[in-house]
Amino acid sequence: MSHVKGLRCRECGNEYPVEPIYVCDFCFGPLEVDYDYDSIARVISRDRIAKGPMTMWRYHDLLPVDAGMALEMGTGFTPLIHAKNLGGKLGLNKLYIKNDSVNPTFSFKDRVVSVASAKALEFEFDTLACASTGNLAGSVSAHGAKAGMKTVVFFPSDLEKGKILGAGIYGATLVAVKGNYDQVNRLCSELADNHRWAFVNINLRPFYSEGSKTLAYEVAEQLGWRAPDVCVVPGASGSLFTKIWKGFKELTDLGLIDKAKTRMHMTQPEGCSPIARAFEDGTPHVRPVTPDTIAKSLAIGNPADGFYSIKTMEDTAGSAVIAPEDEIVEGIQLLAETEGIFTETAGGVVISGLRKLVRSGAIKPDDVTVAYITGNGLKTQEAVEGLINPVYTSPDYADFTKSMKAWENGNKHG
Ligand SMILES: *Cc1c(COP(=O)(O)O)cnc(C)c1O
Ligand SMILES: [Zn+2]
Repeated sequence: MSHVKGLRCRECGNEYPVEPIYVCDFCFGPLEVDYDYDSIARVISRDRIAKGPMTMWRYHDLLPVDAGMALEMGTGFTPLIHAKNLGGKLGLNKLYIKNDSVNPTFSFKDRVVSVASAKALEFEFDTLACASTGNLAGSVSAHGAKAGMKTVVFFPSDLEKGKILGAGIYGATLVAVKGNYDQVNRLCSELADNHRWAFVNINLRPFYSEGSKTLAYEVAEQLGWRAPDVCVVPGASGSLFTKIWKGFKELTDLGLIDKAKTRMHMTQPEGCSPIARAFEDGTPHVRPVTPDTIAKSLAIGNPADGFYSIKTMEDTAGSAVIAPEDEIVEGIQLLAETEGIFTETAGGVVISGLRKLVRSGAIKPDDVTVAYITGNGLKTQEAVEGLINPVYTSPDYADFTKSMKAWENGNKHG
């Protein structure tokens, strides 16, 4: 049994039943899940959570799904690594990497799709769908396969090969749209009005977005039941960013941790940073942009949760930083060479933003800092191909020695 009372408009507070709906009829505000926190407080405890499965479902009391409906994919409870090498380089003693690139489809999107797909089954949809910047397509396709549902995923046609392949392999219908994500999303919103399809991030968005809260719960538990001082989070729609903060607040309100005082920092790539630019301009009203960035998973020009992201920064004394396009690959390389973690372009944006925040003094050496690494580098190989330079040799000892010397000289001089 879940502890959900219904849905509620985030703007006017109007209440709705639990249905696949996402916009308020009165004010067009976004709908959010409304929980019965008193009933959650009566059952939840650190001990009960610790006895749960080693997946995100150990927090099912705080998710809008009957636990029995969830597909068992093994999502969540990903490693929180004390990044001593990278921390040493940046001057941070307590830097942690939340490595969410090791989920079943290699991104944090498995968390949101786990919740949304369970909800789609509960609502008896037979088709699972999404508008994707890349990773969502893979996750929806995998969950659709596991659930035995028809699956249709929409994405901009200029997507990386690894992401198209990483969705198609599960047997989904792939729709490559000649346009950017915001255009894909508009098409899908029209489709959601006219087809009985479960678009995980459109008509199931109130449920879907709750899955991201588990990235706060896990970090708090892994730090020994406390919230970090600082979080650095990549931003596209801004949903992940706002929900991580919501997760820490819920743990505080339920008495599972001391009051969270986390400063929430968002990073966006220079070529698509509408939320960061609004923050810099001192306004919560985000002006849409046309994305042009190598961090395609973050290429949302008209972010649905932009306004609430800025509110979160204001509430937490956080900020937003912009990662220059030419530092994204550097960030990927720095994380790989210091911590042995290969992240995608969104992770490069996080590491570049993290470095900027340290340099500006926004993060202090002893702050417990968590950098969220949300996707896997094997899906965005195009971005780093140029860095790779093997020694080519025959399997002959003398030939190897010669080739190695030539390679070393080549590296020295050029
Ligand atoms: C989707 C995505 C994000 C950001 O998600 P939002 O909730 O839309 O801000 C971050 N990182 C990766 C790798 C993603 O795929
Ligand atoms: Zn409303």
